Amino acid sequence: MTMSLVDWARIHTVLLDMDGTLLDLRFDELFFLQTVPMAYARHHQIDDTAARQRVLAAYQEAQGRLEWYDLDYWSRQFGFNISLLKHDIAHLIQLRPQVELLLGQLRASGRPVWLVTNAHIDSLTLKLQRTPIGNWLDGTITSHEIGWAKEHAAFWPLLQQRLGFDPATTLLIDDAEAVLQAAADYGIGQLIHIATPNSSANPVYSSRFPSIDDFDAILPVRVYEEGLI
Ligand SMILES: [Mg+2]
Repeated sequence: MTMSLVDWARIHTVLLDMDGTLLDLRFDELFFLQTVPMAYARHHQIDDTAARQRVLAAYQEAQGRLEWYDLDYWSRQFGFNISLLKHDIAHLIQLRPQVELLLGQLRASGRPVWLVTNAHIDSLTLKLQRTPIGNWLDGTITSHEIGWAKEHAAFWPLLQQRLGFDPATTLLIDDAEAVLQAAADYGIGQLIHIATPNSSANPVYSSRFPSIDDFDAILPVRVYEEGLI
């Protein structure tokens, strides 16, 4: 029997990222790299190439800051409502494989399961409306409520105060290495990296953290081996 990459006997609390972990990052990439530049071109009446250059330059400037995840900030920067624009391609919001199986097992195990995301509240609300993930969660926390992005060291003690977990017996699953590193530095006990956040891109494995293609490698109940399905 192969071992799970997670030592479940030592995990009391589970923290899950949303975009690229529970949900396919394809939606977000298409939105920011195609939908937004096209809307920018229409709104400012310039050609697509110029619009794309301006939008990408603005992204680069905001990278690593909380503003990067703030739809209100982008609405102000670009001059049109970014949150509303998301509804145009909302049909592309999809679960990653085995998400329902993982969440169902976690829920059944009785462990608190928190969604912890850098996503803006409008984006979170839209995704909770369009997918069933909220059914299995104890709650959601956005980094905008905390005041720091998850990549930042200051985020973790504030989250811990808020939720009251023991870092040593907590698991975090995230597709961002910088987030996992900040959590590791704070003492989060077990960390899992998602190598396939975007269904239309090749896997990118982490060299620092256990890195998985899908949740089969970490399910608390190994359904395939135990012959349950
Ligand atoms: Mg993510």
